[in-house]
Amino acid sequence: MTSDRAVARINLDAITRNCDRLRSELREGVELCAVVKADGYGHGMEESAEAALAGGATWFAVAGIREARELADFVEGTKPRVPLLIMGPLQRDDLEEVVACGFDLVVWSESHLLDIAWLAADVGRGGRVHVKLDTGMGRFGTRDADLATRLAITAAADPNLERVGLMTHFATADQRGDDFFAEQLRRFTGWTAPIKRAHPEVLVHAANSAAVLRDPAAHFDMVRCGIAIYGMDPFGEDPLARGLEPALELSSYVAAVKHCAAGESTGYGRRFIAAEETHIGLLPIGYGDGWRRGLSGNAEVLIAGRRRPLVGTVSMDSVAVDLGSDPTALALLGQPAVLIGGRGAERITAEELARRLDTINYEITCGLTARVARVHHSGGVARLAAD
Ligand SMILES: *Cc1c(COP(=O)(O)O)cnc(C)c1O
Repeated sequence: MTSDRAVARINLDAITRNCDRLRSELREGVELCAVVKADGYGHGMEESAEAALAGGATWFAVAGIREARELADFVEGTKPRVPLLIMGPLQRDDLEEVVACGFDLVVWSESHLLDIAWLAADVGRGGRVHVKLDTGMGRFGTRDADLATRLAITAAADPNLERVGLMTHFATADQRGDDFFAEQLRRFTGWTAPIKRAHPEVLVHAANSAAVLRDPAAHFDMVRCGIAIYGMDPFGEDPLARGLEPALELSSYVAAVKHCAAGESTGYGRRFIAAEETHIGLLPIGYGDGWRRGLSGNAEVLIAGRRRPLVGTVSMDSVAVDLGSDPTALALLGQPAVLIGGRGAERITAEELARRLDTINYEITCGLTARVARVHHSGGVARLAAD
């Protein structure tokens, strides 16, 4: 099907089902915004957006202007046109394009809001702004609730602005047993409730994937989900236990098998020296593909349905696995090697790799580089990603 060194197969039906699964948590009328930034967390931005749409998503979100540009044509083709929210900061020079393209953007200062309103009048297209209150994340947004209220009321009254949202972002939604999530929720509810009463048309949103699964009181009018739509668990636990289906499978293949006598080594720095005779399988995937060097001697892969340990140092272009001393190891030449995914009863998740690397599942799939071929499939039909 493809002769690539390393392939990420992405099951678009899984993304669609994960969106359905998330929507089943929501009250009637609450919208699902599919967060497709960072190339859809490594899954392909446009393909993920399309799959999320099929699963009932009605909004998309990205982090910056470049990502919005990449998705613009796709969004233009949707009927009704799906709104696209740029969640991150924008430079003044980009605002005209953002308004002219009809993207939604986030504001937290008076001057920024005035610029948008002025540009919207100038280009003759209604501006779409989301006022962000920093309720405790300590990143973008204003901490000043009075300023945020003034911005919201000014925006709601401005005929050049056709949509106004009120938003925040949680710092600890994924941390069990913390109190800060409830505090942020209390601050946000206290800020939004009077504005929403006076202006029922404003769109209130706060929840990421973890918050959606954690507390229905955080759902408001819309939720912004990334990690869970790709079938990864926002709490770093087993996604299947929460009814989420990992969409991405990462594989390579056994490109060489070599006999290794006791005392012989494989890889840079001779970090693996065979204690006894064995066979080493070489897979053409390495840190240049996003298979991180920190996994040296610290991961397993599935070959012929069995877990095999990685040995030696992860190189830029290859890794070694210990296939054991049995001569049948030679027959594994050419066999697929699954690095993320399941075969039979065995399953390697992004969550397992994240634990080994002391990071989060987000970083595992976002870190897969452009060198890894993306193959999108649904209903068993595979197609190679354009480019
Ligand atoms: C990335 C992001 C999200 C999505 O978070 P997940 O944990 O992946 O669901 C939501 N809101 C904002 C502001 C974000 O930056």
